[in-house]
Amino acid sequence: MSVKYYDSEFEDSEFGEVYVRYNVRSRNIIFRIIDGQLWITSSPHLSDSVIKNAIGDKREKLRELFQRTRTSVPEHIIDETFKITTPAFCFSVVCNREKEFRLHRVFQPQTDPLYVGMPDCAVVQLECPYQTDFDNEQRQRWLRKVVEAALIKEVKPYLQYMLNQMSAKSGLAYEQFMVGRGKTRWGWCSRLSGARKKLSQTERVIEIGPYTQEEYFPHKICLNSFTALLPLHLAQYICLHELTHTRHADHSDDFHSTLDMLTRTILGVSAKECEWEMRKCRTDINCFAK
Ligand SMILES: [Zn+2]
Repeated sequence: MSVKYYDSEFEDSEFGEVYVRYNVRSRNIIFRIIDGQLWITSSPHLSDSVIKNAIGDKREKLRELFQRTRTSVPEHIIDETFKITTPAFCFSVVCNREKEFRLHRVFQPQTDPLYVGMPDCAVVQLECPYQTDFDNEQRQRWLRKVVEAALIKEVKPYLQYMLNQMSAKSGLAYEQFMVGRGKTRWGWCSRLSGARKKLSQTERVIEIGPYTQEEYFPHKICLNSFTALLPLHLAQYICLHELTHTRHADHSDDFHSTLDMLTRTILGVSAKECEWEMRKCRTDINCFAK
């Protein structure tokens, strides 16, 4: 698999990961959106803070650019043909004689050997009256919200299980977990106030990881609900990325080498390969619908 290289990287609160490539011939800062991420080409003489300021100055324009590229994702109309089918969450629409919209939910045990032992798949079906006008824009917006609300409600056990699994395998502990909604980010990690914590003897289940630790600073990890729809190794990669932040708050060289060591040891691929695959993924139901 080819891997796209960058020289520097940082996180923007609105646009997520920003990748910088240096070009000695470059006189200006050039902004591009590639696969939903912001890429910048600049002279190697410009510091990160100059680049960050340039993003600040152009924020409005960049937002429009993101909007334009995002609307170019083929939009799936939500009607009886709409389907999301993943091991964590399935969604479909059926029309019937009833006068009201109704959501049904059942849980199905995992059958794929890769997922056996993981929390059951939430299979959600939305019943719509026959006369529903699926061509109406307002109705489509509402249906989109229904899908997103069902997703955020149902995938917590699945994501929590995966985060615990990655925490055990890496030896990196976290304190709190929540499922969130983010426009561009797949996950985020923040340090909670409070002193170092000691792991009790019973909590030492994480001892098998390369980062066996007896003390840790408590962190809260939030995963975007769309993470549950990613292929397994990419969702696990997102978990490892956020867990690595419990050790290294920024995207420093130390952060990257730790993350790479963990993804190679636990997932059997490099962090760069996962990053490369992630560029095709968006936090958008259109990317996961059939
Ligand atoms: Zn990060």
